[in-house]
Amino acid sequence: MINVAGLSKRYGTHLAVKDVNFNIEKGEVVGFLGPNGAGKSTIMNILTGYLSTTQGEVTIDGFNIVDYPEEAKRRIGYLPEIPPLYPDMKVREYLDFIYDLKKVKFPKKPHIDEILKLVKIDNVQNRLIKNLSKGYRQRVGFAGALIGNPDVLILDEPTVGLDPKQIIEIRNLIGRLGKNHTIILSSHILSEIQAVCKRVIIINRGEIIADDNSENLAQKLSDDSTLLARITGNETDMLSALKSIKNIKSVSSLGQMEIGSFDYIIEPEDGVDVRADIFDRVVSRGKKLLTLKDNKLSLEQIFLRLTEVENDKAKQLLKSDNGEITVVIEESEEE
Ligand code: ADP
Ligand code: MG
Repeated sequence: MINVAGLSKRYGTHLAVKDVNFNIEKGEVVGFLGPNGAGKSTIMNILTGYLSTTQGEVTIDGFNIVDYPEEAKRRIGYLPEIPPLYPDMKVREYLDFIYDLKKVKFPKKPHIDEILKLVKIDNVQNRLIKNLSKGYRQRVGFAGALIGNPDVLILDEPTVGLDPKQIIEIRNLIGRLGKNHTIILSSHILSEIQAVCKRVIIINRGEIIADDNSENLAQKLSDDSTLLARITGNETDMLSALKSIKNIKSVSSLGQMEIGSFDYIIEPEDGVDVRADIFDRVVSRGKKLLTLKDNKLSLEQIFLRLTEVENDKAKQLLKSDNGEITVVIEESEEE
């Protein structure tokens, strides 16, 4: 349904999207997961024909977005990060306007009625958009995207700025729409994507670093073998002190989390208890061990950390098939 080959986008000298490739089948619900600035909106704007490519090809249902823009665009409903709503229009009036703009062929009234019901905004159809809550306004944006019954929905961070109750409502709506649409949804929050998408494409610094189903990713990202230590004193000295302990595979610093001390993630050799050795080493350096505990990172934390390392390293880590990945990156020069 959606075919992206060798896609790159340059803004001036900045390469915001680098050689991105993916195919999305009809009916898939796919999440674009990546931190702010990763390139998610850029890719979405290209898919919807709002932005030109620097390189590469995009086809929607077989129609190349450059050669057949009308055919391609007709198949897409787009909800941009900030939906272009007209605050002084009433909801119904706005949807009528979008209907005209999109030159939709089906009978107007029943079509809009159906969408109002589906998105659950029929009760506010005569209210001015500016008087609606943010959650309702977002649903009006959804309704606009649904006009013309496009097969594909592209939703850019649809829950940003909503409260938890509104987030759940939007999620449920996406769940309902996912039954008969192909959907791409972006977010910088892993749990948000996991809640609605079977497949997750992780984008970081303009590149795809993973494309997998969410259970696989969760399994690859889970990590239960490391320790978290908070230790007073100098970071560089302590890193080398910890790294020289027997049976420690890797150590990395998380930075200063409390004044005068640093947090370290320590990965021991499998099954070896290194806690006493860590304590002794810290004491022998005249420092204080403020915390030492199992480091059960949330998937969210691991995802964030993954996006902080070099993309090549992240890809390599995610590819490992042994079911465990270490997101801890050694800063040592030995490699
Ligand atoms: P995301 O949606 O993942 O947060 P974006 O696609 O908005 O990421 O941005 C990707 C990168 O491209 C960022 O570094 C951003 O600063 C840059 N960028 C986005 N839009 C423009 C633009 N119109 N001009 C120049 N740089 C841009
Ligand atoms: Mg964005």
